[in-house]
This record gives sequence, C-alpha cells and structure tokens, in this order.
Amino acid sequence: MSLTTSLSPEALSAFHAETERAYAALREAGLSLDITRGKPAPEQLDLSAELLSLPGADYRAADGTDTRNYGGLLGLPELRAIFADLLGLPAEQLLAADNASLALMHDTLSFALLHGTPESPEPWRDQGDIAFLCPSPGYDRHFALAEHLGFRLIPVDLGDDGPDMDQVREHVADQAVKGIWIVPTYANPTGAVVSEAVAAELAAMETAAPDFRIYWDNAYAVHHLSDERVKSADIVGPCAASGHPNRPLVFASTSKITFAGAGVSFLGGSPENLAWYTGHAGFRAIGPDKVNQLRHARYFKDADGVLALMERHREILAPKFAIVERVLTDRLGPHDVATWTRPKGGYFVSLDVVDGTAAHVVALAKEIGLALTPAGSSFPYKSDPRDRNIRIAPSFPSQADLEQAMQALATCVLLAAAEKALAA
Ligand code: PLP
Repeated sequence: MSLTTSLSPEALSAFHAETERAYAALREAGLSLDITRGKPAPEQLDLSAELLSLPGADYRAADGTDTRNYGGLLGLPELRAIFADLLGLPAEQLLAADNASLALMHDTLSFALLHGTPESPEPWRDQGDIAFLCPSPGYDRHFALAEHLGFRLIPVDLGDDGPDMDQVREHVADQAVKGIWIVPTYANPTGAVVSEAVAAELAAMETAAPDFRIYWDNAYAVHHLSDERVKSADIVGPCAASGHPNRPLVFASTSKITFAGAGVSFLGGSPENLAWYTGHAGFRAIGPDKVNQLRHARYFKDADGVLALMERHREILAPKFAIVERVLTDRLGPHDVATWTRPKGGYFVSLDVVDGTAAHVVALAKEIGLALTPAGSSFPYKSDPRDRNIRIAPSFPSQADLEQAMQALATCVLLAAAEKALAA
C-alpha cells in the first residue's frame, strides 16, 4: 500500500499540502477525543439499571442457599445453567466467579506456575524457559499478563478463521510452549472467528508439553453486530474426544453484557480442571459474590433473556460501527493507504495503515487531541513488526464524538501516508 502507486508526483505534492491544511484546521479546533479502550458507553450500562435494585429482600438461591453468606466456590447453579446454555457446555462443567474473567486467567496461570496442572511433572515456575503463543494482532492484556508472569511471548499470525496452524504446530513441538491465547469469537481487535476445523486441529495436535493449555477466552460469544449470530466453535468436546480433556480452559464474563466493573465471570472445562481450580481457589477466597450472581440470574431469567439484552446493546453499538465503516470508506477508500476489518460482532475495528506509519499516525493524532491506543499494543511486547496496526474502539464515545474522532483519524492516516510517499 502506498500513495506513490496511486498518485503522480505533482498530484502527491498537492494532496500533501491539502492534507496538511486539513490537519492544521483540526489542531485549531482544539479536540479532546478518545477512542482507546473498549468500554461500554453509559447508555449501555443504563440498560441493566434494574440490577441495582435486585435481588431485593429475597436473597435465597433456588436451592435455598443464603447468598449473603460464605461458600459456594462453584457459583450459583441457576446462573451457571444460563451461561452453560450460551457457551455450549454442560452446566456442571462451568463455574461462576466474581467480576473480571481476566482475574480467572491470572489465577489459573498463577496456580500452574506455583503448583503445576494435573499433568505437570513439576510446577511451571520450576521448568526453566516457559512460553505462550500469542496470535496477533490480539488482546493487549493477554500478552501483558503472560509477560508479567514471566512467560516468553511468541507471536503467531492470526487469520480470519484462527491462528496460523502451521506456525502453531511448529512451536508446540517445543516443550517450553505451555499454552496459547485464543479469542474464538469476534476476536479483539480483528473480529476473527475460529472455525470448527481450526478448533479441531488445536484440540487434536500433538504438543511436546504434556500440560499444554488453550486459554479459550470467549469474551464476545454473544456480542453480535449483525443478523448473523455467529456460533462459537466448541473446544471442550473436541479436546475430550482427542484424548486431551484438560487442554482447554474456557473463559467468559458479563462485563460487556451488564456492568463492566460489577459483572460475573465464568470458567469452563473438564471436571478435573474445575476441581484443580477450586482446589487452589479455596485458599484464596471462601467463595464468590453470590448476591451478585443471584441478581444476574433473576435479571436474565434464562439464556434468551441474555440474547434479548444483547440485541439492545447492538442497537446502540451497530450505528457506531457503521460510522467507523462509513468514514474509513469515504476518506481512505479512494486512496491506497489502509485496510480494515468489518467485524460481525465484538468491540473493535482493526485498521492497518501504510507500513511504518502507525506510530506516526498515533503521534499526529495525539498532537491534535485525539487519543488512540498506542501503536503496537495488539502485539507481544507491544511491538508490531510492520508498524501498521491501529485498534479502533468505537463503543464509548457518543456518535457525534466518534464521527469527529474518525474524521480526524482519517486525516492523520492520510497525512502520514503522504509524508512517507514524499520521502520515498
Ligand atoms: N477478554 C477479551 C478478549 C477482552 O477484550 C476483554 C476486555 O476488553 C476481556 C477479556 C476482559 O474481560 P473481563 O472484564 O471479564 O475481565
């Protein structure tokens, strides 16, 4: 991609001058805009306002449990049943915990490091070099967490239907490789959806590490943006059928269904994995916040209740994704300077600009008051080998702010592309 292929030298100079003028006008406008993090907008949080008055005086769960008291490490059966339905798992293979599935990922990695998994010959921390596969671009906090806990991060390419399996197979032949991050549905940031074929390969492949884990983070399982409600591939069934029942750990949460900071998280997997988790988690806490779990169960009623709520989220989110698509198409489409994703769900659009210009685009945007996620954030060690990827998070700003932010971003992308073409 480059402007030099689409413009003559004279046209390029004129285009650069014109884009510089547009950029200067934006600077004059004194913007203060932010499209960095995938947070729900206040109107989305308002959808679940009823939660704040639940469960009321009736604090007993269906089986009579007093949710105000200690205990119940597996979480409330009625809420587990709802999400088991949505995630395609047997309810006894899914537990409900506190807010933040990221905390479950942190804890399970920490338990494996400190104590090993059921198949580990020794705790991971005693095994020397340990590494995690990071399909990229991916979720920055996955990579940061693994790095923080001492794993070596190995990038592998992420395609439209999951990670490049040739690369994955090559790396898992090394016993230092302990696991892989997978966001199976509407991945952050590309929107990729893991196909059943790729899931089957991940389940069946031979790994040198006997205790290899798939961190199957289904954060966006029900976060559809189109009529095509893409169905998540199953990983627990294929892993069990391939003789690797403990390989997958499934994560999900209501962070982007109800309240991002006060939701419920879920951990799914084999009975042995859940017993392993509770065996360690029981030292960390006596039980989760069951009052919160009860009010979520009462609020949703059943799986259809969750899907109906997600339709209302879609009514708020889909027009914002349409703004992103329209501005990128109108402003960047006519030039050979960018490609971007058109996700069918999830929270992000992944924009690839001219190679070597992403960091410059982010710096140009910062100068005029537009905050973008730092370039490289979606790659291990925050290092994008082609310096081209920018993650766009359209959910939080109002439609008016998002329109302004996208127009400003388009100008920055064009200016950086023009500068690079002129310097060539
Ligand atoms: N997983 C993915 C892929 C995400 O994009 C996010 C948030 O952006 C999370 C997990 C965070 O989930 P939670 O709020 O349950 O910790």
